[in-house]
Amino acid sequence: MPELVFVGTGDAFGSGGRRNTAILVRDAGHTLLLDCGPTTSTGLKAMGIDPRDIDAIAITHFHADHVAGIPFLLLDYLFETRRERPLEIHGPPGIRQHVRRLADAFHYVNEQDGMFPIHFGEHEQGKTIDLEGFRLTPLEAYHTPATYPHMLRVEAGGHSMVFSGDTGWHDSLPAAVGDVDLFVTECVFMTPGSYSMHLSVEELARGRERFRCGAMRLTHLGADVLGNLDRVPFDTAHDGLVLEF
Ligand SMILES: [Zn+2]
Ligand SMILES: [Zn+2]
Repeated sequence: MPELVFVGTGDAFGSGGRRNTAILVRDAGHTLLLDCGPTTSTGLKAMGIDPRDIDAIAITHFHADHVAGIPFLLLDYLFETRRERPLEIHGPPGIRQHVRRLADAFHYVNEQDGMFPIHFGEHEQGKTIDLEGFRLTPLEAYHTPATYPHMLRVEAGGHSMVFSGDTGWHDSLPAAVGDVDLFVTECVFMTPGSYSMHLSVEELARGRERFRCGAMRLTHLGADVLGNLDRVPFDTAHDGLVLEF
């Protein structure tokens, strides 16, 4: 069965001392990284995972807690673990320019001569592609529009899951998630707050019967949720969790 490895399950503030978002999907010797927060390299090393295991990276949106780890990973590949084989990086439209701008701003390397090849791909909402042994479909999300937010559906080995990235509640959320085996969803608040572009436990609990998915697992947990875990009627993820789906 395919498995998920939760490298980072915290929010943008590192609440609870958790790392920023990064989730590995592994199946049949292939590894796909969903999001690459700035603490991703630290997490991989802490968990004894060789960064070179990663065949492809898929980014949900351009907020730093989901994408700013890429320059650090490229630096690791060039000077530490010395990657030689190509790397796929897929993300919202403009992903190549975005990664280049980040690397430039950090004064880190990006696609320099002698570096391993990087192949970039841009999400098209609703369009499924084959990516290094996985089938990847970007879906609609409701989040800061300037970050080009997407959810990501991943199929592997006859199983399927959706990762929400960052999204607030919207009426078509349950239908967009569909009948996958597992929905890994962000959840920042206990109750809907003033910021509508993240989900709350209350909204997910109220809408639970509208979801046709199998299991649900909460991640990207805010301080509000972490302080009330005993009142959360869902399974939650933590840094280092490994889960089959
Ligand atoms: Zn986030
Ligand atoms: Zn975000």
